[in-house]
Amino acid sequence: MKALNAPTRVVDLILTCLGGPACQCVEARAVGPRYNRKVKTFYIETFGCQMNAHDSEKVVGTLVTEGYQQVETPEEAELVFYNTCSIRDKAEQKVFHRLQQFQRDGKGKKFAVLGCVAQQEGEKIFEKAPHVSMVCGSASYNQLPQMLVQLDAGNKRVTGLSLDTDQTFETPLTRRDNPHRAFLTIIEGCDKSCAYCVVPFTRGPERSRTSASVIAESRKLAEMGYSEIMLLGQNVNSYRDPSPAAWDFAKLLDEVGRVPGIRRVRFTTSHPRDFVQPIMEAIDSNPSLCNHVHLPVQSGSDRMLEAMRRLYTREEYLQRIAWMKACRREIAITTDVIVGFPGETDEDFQTTLALLDEVEYDSVFSFKYSRRPNTHALALDDQIPEEEKTRRLAVLQEHQRQIQIRRNASYVGRVEECLVEGFNKATGQWIGRTSQHKTLNFVRAAAPSAEDLLGRYVDVRVTRSGPNSLAGECVN
Ligand code: SF4
Repeated sequence: MKALNAPTRVVDLILTCLGGPACQCVEARAVGPRYNRKVKTFYIETFGCQMNAHDSEKVVGTLVTEGYQQVETPEEAELVFYNTCSIRDKAEQKVFHRLQQFQRDGKGKKFAVLGCVAQQEGEKIFEKAPHVSMVCGSASYNQLPQMLVQLDAGNKRVTGLSLDTDQTFETPLTRRDNPHRAFLTIIEGCDKSCAYCVVPFTRGPERSRTSASVIAESRKLAEMGYSEIMLLGQNVNSYRDPSPAAWDFAKLLDEVGRVPGIRRVRFTTSHPRDFVQPIMEAIDSNPSLCNHVHLPVQSGSDRMLEAMRRLYTREEYLQRIAWMKACRREIAITTDVIVGFPGETDEDFQTTLALLDEVEYDSVFSFKYSRRPNTHALALDDQIPEEEKTRRLAVLQEHQRQIQIRRNASYVGRVEECLVEGFNKATGQWIGRTSQHKTLNFVRAAAPSAEDLLGRYVDVRVTRSGPNSLAGECVN
């Protein structure tokens, strides 16, 4: 059996202590008796967004603290966790497919469904997949230690499904996967009610962390060697500091960018309605805040925006884009688009294509509308046939591809600073990420060992471009 994640940081060394009777380390003394049982193994698979990815990092931290050991495959594990996504029907089906695979040969293992599908389907999961013993939504992750005790005691149906919470799920023992960029949740849940979206039903009401706890964690991350922080939330712009300091998102963003050692700050995701001008002023004046904003538009048609209950018009959205374009630094702009929302005419769709031309996005995440339980749009007539949704999606993606070819070509000849994230042995190229969140593959004249540049910031001259990435040569 191979345990995962060789310790690379102080926190990992603490996390990997399983506190046997002879162990004298601080962590083992602090937590004492809970390690006096047999070590259990777990496997976790994560579906969906960056919020889910980061939740899994926190769940792993919680499990390891509770004395569990992470393994690489579900076959090796005694406890198998699926941290699920229900934003689209396909993602949800995937989870049940995984569970089915173990219906017969999962004997001796326990299965837990976490996240959005858990919250959405609740105890029905026990009927659909009787070998599942734990169902827990993200608003109940604070209860995981108690739930694990119940599971250990032989309880066959353990649940954590309450959405009635004002708590956020914070754990100082988070096991972060990326050695250079750290996710940091600042707000959980969502109080909007977009007509197509399950999130308000699966993640509960909005609740923000105190600014003091966010700054303290940022400082700790910098001390641990992280240089880039990604602030996370379903809607980071509606961040409201619950402490008397009462910071808004612009102030928090600026202050995180001023933490010594933090060189880059990103954030996702934003709602246009809450995207106010002070956010762009903070980005424009603080060089640690990256030259990139992801602002989901979903449709370019006012009629569709109203049907989707998005709470802004095309003109209001374009006002936000104008603030970005007025910045002294060039801001890369990315978005999300849904095609085939009920009632979307070809004219509405053409209006969305025209918006792509007007904004000239650096990248677009585009999806076909998918009917989701509990949502307002479920009851809407005039569903668009699947083939038409597929056609529109293909047209939109090709349209955007041409825009990206033009956008990326404008980078050729420029020198961009990259955080080096990897090395591709097959091509002999380093993989870097620019402040605009573009992938920039590059070569360096002096052949270094593969570890030489990882985690460092280097300047790269862009020599070539494609629709999805840039290529170049290191100049320092
Ligand atoms: S803002 Fe809308 S799309 Fe985003 S999570 Fe909330 S309800 Fe869903």
